[in-house]
Amino acid sequence: MSTIFEKILAKEIPANIVYEDEFCLAFNDIEPQAPVHCLLIPKLKIINLKEVTQNHSEILGQMMCAIPKVAKIVCPSHDFRIVINNGKNASQTVFYLHIHLLAGRSFTWPPG
Ligand code: 5GP
Repeated sequence: MSTIFEKILAKEIPANIVYEDEFCLAFNDIEPQAPVHCLLIPKLKIINLKEVTQNHSEILGQMMCAIPKVAKIVCPSHDFRIVINNGKNASQTVFYLHIHLLAGRSFTWPPG
């Protein structure tokens, strides 16, 4: 079954896209939890980090390298928090790997 993020990737449903390259796509979260809240997804389907293998090293490396590029666009003068929820008990609701990038306010630790 296709997730909402695959539909966004296929441009079947709209999203406010902030960054795109050969490997990944970033768009604003529909329900932002901070003044800046976007999601970075790979163009290759991965459900979450629990299914990652060595074969994913390139795509995951490219996603990590995209983070500062996205941050420079969406929050050039802010610190930011990166979150990846993996599985239902970790609050994952969309089962297509995504990196949350949150900024524009202070964040506490530990997270809820
Ligand atoms: P998760 O809880 O799986 O880590 O995060 C899923 C995120 O996707 C949530 O923050 C939620 O607001 C966001 N989201 C769910 N559906 C849509 C959608 O249709 N468009 C966008 N832009 N974000 C969505």
